[in-house]
Amino acid sequence: MKLKPLPRIEINLDKIQHNAKILKYLCESKGVGVTGVVKGVCADLQIVNAFVQAGITRLAVSKTIHLEKLKKAKINATLILLRTPGLSEVHNVVKYADISMNSEIEVIRALSNEAIKQGKIHKIMIMVEMGDLREGVMPKDLPEFISEVMELPGIEIAGIGTNFACFGGVLPTEDKMREFSTLVEQIRKQFSLELPIVSGGNSANLKWLFETKNTGAINDIRLGESILLGRETAEGGIIPNLYQDTFKFVAEVIEVKQKPSAPYGFRGKNGFGESIEFQDHGWMNHILVGVGRQDVFVPGLVPMKPLKILGATSDHIVIDGKNIHLKVGDEVTFTPNYAAILSLMTSPYIHKTYIQFKGSKSEKQGNVYSIYKQRIIPRQ
Ligand SMILES: *Cc1c(COP(=O)(O)O)cnc(C)c1O
Repeated sequence: MKLKPLPRIEINLDKIQHNAKILKYLCESKGVGVTGVVKGVCADLQIVNAFVQAGITRLAVSKTIHLEKLKKAKINATLILLRTPGLSEVHNVVKYADISMNSEIEVIRALSNEAIKQGKIHKIMIMVEMGDLREGVMPKDLPEFISEVMELPGIEIAGIGTNFACFGGVLPTEDKMREFSTLVEQIRKQFSLELPIVSGGNSANLKWLFETKNTGAINDIRLGESILLGRETAEGGIIPNLYQDTFKFVAEVIEVKQKPSAPYGFRGKNGFGESIEFQDHGWMNHILVGVGRQDVFVPGLVPMKPLKILGATSDHIVIDGKNIHLKVGDEVTFTPNYAAILSLMTSPYIHKTYIQFKGSKSEKQGNVYSIYKQRIIPRQ
C-alpha cells in the first residue's frame, strides 16, 4: 500500500460536487443563479472542476493570480473578480477577468483606460454598501456614481451587487433585501439600464433565500462556504442533504509522553506574546503533532477523536491525548472550518489529496430533488 503523504488535507470532490449541484438546484428553483466562489480554496483546479461538473457557470475569486490560473486552465466558466481591485491590479484584471466587482471611480477610470489599451470592453459589477461596512458605494451616492461610470469608454455595467455578514456581521434580513431590490429598480428606471446581474450576497443569504416569498430583483447569489462545507453562514446552520464532512486534515504524531498538565518553572509570556492559563490536573497523556501556526489556523481545527487541543506554536500542536492510545507515527485527523481550510489550501507545506470515485452516486442524492422547501437546521 502506498503511504499517504503527511501532513495532508483530504478533499472529497464527490461531496463538494454534490453540494454544488443541490444548492444550484435549490437557488434556481427560486429564480436565483449561483456564482461559485473558490477563493477559499485558492481556486484549486480539481475543486473548480467539481463546481463546473455540478453545472456552475460563473466562478469568483479574490486574486488576479487565481483569475490567471483559471484562464490559462481554460476553465469553461465566466470568471469574476470578487474583491474590488486596486489601481496596481488593473492590467491583470482587464486581461484575465470577464467581470470585476468595483466600488471606486478612480479604479474604474483606470480600468477604462486599460480596456482601451487592450482593445477590450471590460465588464464590471458595482458593489453597494448596505450596512456591513466593507466594500460598496453608499446608496445616496449611487446615482451620481452610475452616471459617471456610464460616461467611461471600454466599460460595460454587467450588474450590481451587495454583500452581508462579512465585516460588520450585518444580516440580509427581509427588509434589507427589499431595500436593495428597490434601489436596483430605481437605478434601472432612472438610467434605463438593464443591470443583467443582480447579486444579492453570499452564503449568509441562504436562510433568507429559502424562506422569502419574494426574491425581488435578485437573480444571483455568490456561494463559497455553503458549497464547500454544507452550511449557511448567517447562523452556521447545517443545510440538510448537503455534506459537511468534505475536508479532513491529517497530521502526524511526533512525540508521546506522560507529562505534567501545567508548566513548571518561572513563567513569562510564550513565543507568541501570550500568557496562557493552565489547569493542573496531574500527569497527562501529552501528544505533539508536527504542524503548527505556520501551516494552519489552529483554532479552526476540531480533532475527530475525543482529544483536546491545548495550543500551538509555529510548528507544533500540543494535545491532551486523554485516554486515547496514540503512538509516534500515528495520524491524527481534524475537521477544519472555513478559516482552517483557507490556511491549509494556501500553505505550500500541506499536501493536497483528493477523493473521487468516478461515476459514483452519493447516498444523499436519492430523493433530494423532491425537497422543494428547504429548511436550515440551526447549529447545535
Ligand atoms: C468571500 C465572498 C463571497 C463568498 O462568501 P461565502 O460566505 O463563502 O459564501 C461572496 N461575495 C464576496 C464579495 C466575498 O468576498
